[in-house]
Amino acid sequence: MIPVTKPYLPDRNKLDKYIDGIYQREWLTNNGPLVQELTHRLEGYLGVKNLLLVGNGTLALQVAYRALGISGVCDREITEAITTPFSFVATTSSLKWEGIEPRFVDIDRKSWCLDPLAIEQAITDRTKGIVPVHVFGNACDVDSIDEIANKHNLPVIYDAAHAFGVIYQGKSLLTYGDAATLSFHATKLFHSIEGGGVIFRRKEDFDKAKEIINFGISSSGNIERTGINAKMSEFQAAMGLSVLDDIDLILEKRREIWEAYHFVLRDCYVTQVPSLGEVQNYSYFPVVLNSEKEVEIVVKRLHEKGVMARRYFFPPLNSLPYVDDTSNVSNAADISRRIICLPVYHGLSKDMVADIAKIVRRDMV
Ligand SMILES: *Cc1c(COP(=O)(O)O)cnc(C)c1O
Repeated sequence: MIPVTKPYLPDRNKLDKYIDGIYQREWLTNNGPLVQELTHRLEGYLGVKNLLLVGNGTLALQVAYRALGISGVCDREITEAITTPFSFVATTSSLKWEGIEPRFVDIDRKSWCLDPLAIEQAITDRTKGIVPVHVFGNACDVDSIDEIANKHNLPVIYDAAHAFGVIYQGKSLLTYGDAATLSFHATKLFHSIEGGGVIFRRKEDFDKAKEIINFGISSSGNIERTGINAKMSEFQAAMGLSVLDDIDLILEKRREIWEAYHFVLRDCYVTQVPSLGEVQNYSYFPVVLNSEKEVEIVVKRLHEKGVMARRYFFPPLNSLPYVDDTSNVSNAADISRRIICLPVYHGLSKDMVADIAKIVRRDMV
């Protein structure tokens, strides 16, 4: 069977060396030396500052909302954030969990990221923030979103779970926004089994979040604010450090797979249009088929050959049972109905990629 994704497992001896160190120090969690080392190495590799590592990518979002003051916990005021219906469920569920009502606006038909015009039209007195997603690692129109956010004095938190290592206009895409969040889940391009991170634009927000992830306890030992336990452990950091050593290899392999799919499928199907001035990470290969019916046929055909392509992202998040939806998101609804993600992972051979692409192409089966 060919899964849609598979975790990357680094060299066992390398991982063991890090774990030996943990045993020697007997320091397992609470901002240990491996978490500190991973923080510094990731800041260097990604070209970012104020990176805070956390237990997973969902907590990264929740901590970012808290640190930037958009969580709906104060008073009885209803808090809202503008977000995209075209993402993984955690983008929306993390908002709801923090008492923030998601307001969905439509995506651009080419980039599949939030349409800035739609964002601006949806801003009301209740809007407390903007939560766009660099979906499949493709850069949002960050300059327009920045401009709108400044004009209306709203914080922007990018869910950058797919955007590890993406460069936009010569610098890390993760440097845009008041905060950008990462997921290091096992199935992501870079992982620490479970894990995540937040990159803050301002040091003061980073400092606040550092207390939030440790029960609200300040560096002086006082309890200054409401907090949670969102810490990354030393074992997670050990895996992260081992995977980070191989990151160039991982990226190169993804690029090869992406290009092989693209070569066969680009002339018959719609694919995501990379934003101008972007160096992609080739983390996913999504393809939009011609109809929902065709999606069902192709997915079935792939399953029969043991290939687990997935309808991803479907359904659009505005149709979740727990959101109050009044949105008109026709682009997201349309793309979501017709999209599938093909397998992309380190161990996938070029021959397999060619076979899968052929199974997808109607005229070749
Ligand atoms: C994976 C993912 C998350 C959640 O990250 P976890 O580490 O699994 O909690 C959030 N947003 C998006 C877009 C994701 O793909």
